[in-house]
Amino acid sequence: MLPEADSLWLLRLLRDIQLAEFYRPILEALNVTRPEHFDFVRPEDLDGIGMGRPAQRRLVEALKRHRSGLKSKNWVYKILGGFAPGQKESTPPSDSPPSLPEPEGGLKCLIPDGAVCRGELLGSGCFGVVHRGLWTLPSGQSIPVAVKSLRVGPEGPEGTELGDFLREVSVMMNLEHPHVLRLHGLVLGQPLQMVMELAPLGSLHTRLTAPAPTPPLPVALLCLFLRQVAGAMAYLGARGLVHRDLATRNLLLASPRTVKVADFGLVRPLGGARGRYVMGGPRRIPFAWCAPESLRHGAFSSASDVWMFGVTLWEMFSGGEEPWAGVPPYLILQRLEKDRARLPRPPLCSRALYALALRCWAPHPADRPSFSNLEGLLQEAWPPEGRCVRDVTEPGALRMEPGDPITIIEGSASPHSPDSTTWKGQNGRTFKMGNFPASAVTLVDSGGSPASHLLPRGAPARGEHHQGNISGDRAKAKLRDPPPAQGQRRNMALQRSKGISKSLESVLSLGPRPTGGGSSPPELRHARVGPQGAPGLPPRPPVAASSSSQPSQPPRERPPWPKRELPHSQPTGAPGASKATVPSRGPLPDFELQRRITEVELSVHGVTHQECQEALRATGGDVVAAIRNLKVDQLFYLSSWSRADCRRILERYQWDLSAASRYVLARS
Ligand code: AMP
Repeated sequence: MLPEADSLWLLRLLRDIQLAEFYRPILEALNVTRPEHFDFVRPEDLDGIGMGRPAQRRLVEALKRHRSGLKSKNWVYKILGGFAPGQKESTPPSDSPPSLPEPEGGLKCLIPDGAVCRGELLGSGCFGVVHRGLWTLPSGQSIPVAVKSLRVGPEGPEGTELGDFLREVSVMMNLEHPHVLRLHGLVLGQPLQMVMELAPLGSLHTRLTAPAPTPPLPVALLCLFLRQVAGAMAYLGARGLVHRDLATRNLLLASPRTVKVADFGLVRPLGGARGRYVMGGPRRIPFAWCAPESLRHGAFSSASDVWMFGVTLWEMFSGGEEPWAGVPPYLILQRLEKDRARLPRPPLCSRALYALALRCWAPHPADRPSFSNLEGLLQEAWPPEGRCVRDVTEPGALRMEPGDPITIIEGSASPHSPDSTTWKGQNGRTFKMGNFPASAVTLVDSGGSPASHLLPRGAPARGEHHQGNISGDRAKAKLRDPPPAQGQRRNMALQRSKGISKSLESVLSLGPRPTGGGSSPPELRHARVGPQGAPGLPPRPPVAASSSSQPSQPPRERPPWPKRELPHSQPTGAPGASKATVPSRGPLPDFELQRRITEVELSVHGVTHQECQEALRATGGDVVAAIRNLKVDQLFYLSSWSRADCRRILERYQWDLSAASRYVLARS
């Protein structure tokens, strides 16, 4: 537990309002040691320690008074504050199984360190490791959970990772949907930990690529998953959020028939009326899943999430293969735009479903269906179910026995000989796929009109006419280079996807990281380049100077940027940072200025574009000095230490802002 001195403010505050008896329960049961921690405390939490509602109101008022007397300086809580608690929304129940039972006392946002014990390692993501855990509620009841801990290197967490981690918390704490992974709460310990709903069956990608004897997933189940994901994504879109990393690796199996969208580290709010998020700087993005506008301009929207949904569909039906395997990242955009290439139709995927994927991959975002449309379109493209009525043993035909459930992927009829009609489908007992005589199967009425899906060979399946939206030669929209053999690709996919889940490198980010100071191991560092983009790609537009280019930044209430003397006589030499300085009299060429601003932005967590610009101006263009001054300011706003002290602390921590922040936080 933190020393008493850290929480003296709380004791004083409670004494002032005659609630001193709650000092210990607040400290120990709710783990509150700083005023900002109350942002995560809900009335039910206070009910839980026996505080009545009138007393709670007094506490809220006292906190308001206390906080208005304090300048909010802590950038960690500013990030979390960007998504105000209390925005939690719920959705009507769906037809899917209910999620984990509501833990006693509702969402516990702050969970005491000792209430969660971690077990086996479940996986490792971009900025943390995930363990299976057991969360003991105040009643003594324990529930299984997943605990994601922020990765901490020898020098502390890397700024971007901390930001993404906190952003993931702040996004998840406001979401409630049967197909969105639920966040139970946050442990404000070292390291920071998210306590989440456990998805006991792991990621869908792992399931799709599981080797034999694990059977492949039936087509009908894949369709069900697609509908669940479309529902979850429609929910996110309606809340003005864009996921940006929709892929089977980020879909978790909560039960054999329930999939949940997870990994909200890249989620961003959609900015303004245009409903787009434009990346403010080079960041990691999963390029093979990305829409062309995301690759070209760093623009993300619900429509680019829809594109990713199409790729996710493709992954599902191709057994978790890696999209665009073997195509160099910088060529993907060219293939998509210039060659109008699209991922090929996987054999398990019906024409109707593939037509849907093609609609998701329309070049113009406005031509793609919305997620709510997709829910209906999926219903239309649902493969009909049948039941086998006789033994099928003919050579070349799909083996089946009477009673076998058959999912019909395609129907094809010969206009000259209707009796010889063959269908293509999957045997739900053996999971094998193949052609069989239509006469061997009767359709099961599943509420729709499945027989209407079975169209003569060559005729477009329902929805396929939409291909015309992409281009006149969309019929030829196939990869020109055939993909490698199945087995070969499977191995590649397994190896690569292992890497992907750890490090989503960006097609915009193929160069070395411009600045040092990162503490994560090399495979976890996200390669980045400046705004000029990757070789072979058109140049990225310069990063806009206005704050609108950074809609992900929560509104900041910083004091006006302090004036500095020119130039600062700071020692230069932060590892990896540019040492070039430009005399303050000589104007920097636009490109160079943008490059330096980006370099500063990437090196100091939580600063705005404008602040970087100001800092560079104040140091006469000296990138290292600007980075250091900004770090001093960040630490200064975070703590009650003087700027000179902050500088000394940062020097001691070799300018690692995260490590220095932890030091001052533990002592402020
Ligand atoms: P992430 O950091 O979210 O990418 O998670 C890394 C890996 O940990 C995932 O690929 C999953 O295999 C596993 N994982 C993450 N969250 C959960 C969860 N809630 N339940 C079970 N496994 C999880």
